[in-house]
Amino acid sequence: MAKIIMKTPLVEMDGDEMTRILWRWIKDILIEPYVDLKTEYYDLGLEYREKTKDQVTIDSAEATKKYGVAVKCATITPNAARVEEYDLSEMWKSPNGTIRAILDGTVFREPIVVKGINPFVRSWKKPISIARHAYGDVYKNTEMKTKGAGKAEIVFTDKDGNETRQTIHDFTDDGIIMGMHNTKKSIESFARACFNYALDKKQDLWFATKDTISKIYDHSFKDIFQEIYDAEYDDKFKEANIEYFYTLIDDAVARVVRSEGGFIWACKNYDGDVMSDMIASAFGSLAMMTSVLVSPEGYYEYEAAHGTVQRHYYNHLKGQETSTNSVATIFAWTGALRKRGELDEIPELCTFADKLEKACCDTIEEGVMTKDLAALSELENKKIVNAKEFLLEIQKRLDQMI
Ligand code: NAP
Ligand code: MG
Repeated sequence: MAKIIMKTPLVEMDGDEMTRILWRWIKDILIEPYVDLKTEYYDLGLEYREKTKDQVTIDSAEATKKYGVAVKCATITPNAARVEEYDLSEMWKSPNGTIRAILDGTVFREPIVVKGINPFVRSWKKPISIARHAYGDVYKNTEMKTKGAGKAEIVFTDKDGNETRQTIHDFTDDGIIMGMHNTKKSIESFARACFNYALDKKQDLWFATKDTISKIYDHSFKDIFQEIYDAEYDDKFKEANIEYFYTLIDDAVARVVRSEGGFIWACKNYDGDVMSDMIASAFGSLAMMTSVLVSPEGYYEYEAAHGTVQRHYYNHLKGQETSTNSVATIFAWTGALRKRGELDEIPELCTFADKLEKACCDTIEEGVMTKDLAALSELENKKIVNAKEFLLEIQKRLDQMI
């Protein structure tokens, strides 16, 4: 069979440890035999980030702006232990953080649902996507411990030197304080990314904050979403027969649990951090979750939601077989290939992505799976396979479909 020809290259961001091993195998076994793969390759593995003083991360994000679609492998975010392990000259920043700052995006995460692995919440029939604002709030805060009695104030000095100040608290004894911010521009782009994604997926969009308590900060998020929705999206949503719905975060949590799923839940940065782990675990596992960063300009970066699976990598280095689940990394590839197919009008590429995803799900639904899933699956006859066998089993089913 002739390989599918691509027009525009994907931006390929290679990564670290066990996911780097899976990356190579996925390309060899599931992609390159079928697709005449065109990529512009960036090695975000920690060794090459060190060698380029992290310039490669910046270059890969700039390339994403140029080509529009990227696929990223999980990468190490260095901490003190990694600085020693890799003999780093600096504790390089999280590549995801750097890429997000350049692309100004929102991260969308969605569980991959398969028969036999049932959500812990009985009413959920369809996946729930999380749209997480990826800028500001507690992730870019300033915090302080205070000693003894004193007054904590919040001060804004404008460019002419005029001060606006408010008292946070009159302390009578030791305390703690925190200051955080967001920008109108970032919230606006978050809102547009969510509305565009809902239109793309043809799913309702829910958004929730704590606006009753945070009457300025959280309320601004609510207001900005509503203004943009009314001005730019109301007609488009009606045409697509989908709904935008705002409610208080407490109410949203209760409704999410009682829902059937099948919608997008937009969350502020912290809510999205916590709720995406909750949604992923309640649907099964982090290794069964897709993740895509969407920028307001329409750039897409696909990745797995989990990390580099370090413990498995050390076993792999010792020559042991590991039963590492590659589904989320395969879905990063299929997401990117499908998007490339849509943008370049290559329907065969989209169909290939659909078939590869189906082959993954069929494999698991037929009882062949990695160890992490076997612990969750309610199927009776399960066969636990190692990471490479799992890919070969998927390939077998893909070949039957093609
Ligand atoms: P992790 O790599 O997600 O792994 C945590 C544990 O979850 C693993 O030890 C494994 O459990 C299980 N697991 C995760 N993915 C799995 C898979 N595909 N198949 C089977 N089991 C899986 O998180 P971490 O250990 O906290 O972080 C390791 C490194 O990844 C860190 O350096 C961190 O900076 C980086 N990280 C990167 C990203 C990213 O690039 N997006 C995200 C998070 C973390 P068992 O060991 O019990 O089998
Ligand atoms: Mg988290």
